[in-house]
Amino acid sequence: MPALLSNAILNALPLQLNAFRARLTAVSLPVGMSIYEAHEAPEFAHFLTSGIASVVTTMQDGGCVETGMWAREGLAECMHLGGKDRVPSRCFMQMGGTALRMPFADLETDFENLQPLRDGIQHSMRTQALILGQLVACNRLHEVEARLARWLLMLQDRIQDDVLLITQEFLAEMLGSRRTTVTMAAGALQRIGLIEYQRGRVHILDRERLEGAACECYPVIHKLSNGSAS
Ligand SMILES: [Zn+2]
Repeated sequence: MPALLSNAILNALPLQLNAFRARLTAVSLPVGMSIYEAHEAPEFAHFLTSGIASVVTTMQDGGCVETGMWAREGLAECMHLGGKDRVPSRCFMQMGGTALRMPFADLETDFENLQPLRDGIQHSMRTQALILGQLVACNRLHEVEARLARWLLMLQDRIQDDVLLITQEFLAEMLGSRRTTVTMAAGALQRIGLIEYQRGRVHILDRERLEGAACECYPVIHKLSNGSAS
């Protein structure tokens, strides 16, 4: 399986779990597709093999911010194991991709019975929890321009492409800022030649300098993420 169409949790499983792997079904996940909704038990468990799923927390007034991101390193529904209708966030495909999936109820049983699978998922959950802590601090303390740079780098790491297809509305939602604020931040990064930003498309022109423009959270998250990948 090509590296970009594999999943880090599944890759790390021992051969004796091949029967488990064989029960997974390959599916396409178009952009915008719901992976799970808040306070609802998920129907399927998705081990992403490409694309990006964003976890967003929405307030009563409709304001929302990204509080997590899943790509090929994880199981999107891992937080539902042990409390499947208690998760208050929702998750959807930020960038279309693919997954290997199985009914969530089946995964719950396998999670109980297959220790290597449980170990891999729990390791991924710990990583996600640590990243979430960093994102909470970042969203509260860092300026939008630095957060935008951090977020674009996170996306590029996961997509492995210099061109990111992302709407202005998504950008604002993910960063929990007004559209005009995000537009100004993207304009500032564009003026100094780090990105080229057109409607629905961000081209990363100078990754090294973009890393310099990102807040300190980027290297922290990058290190955590790499520690979770195999
Ligand atoms: Zn930050």
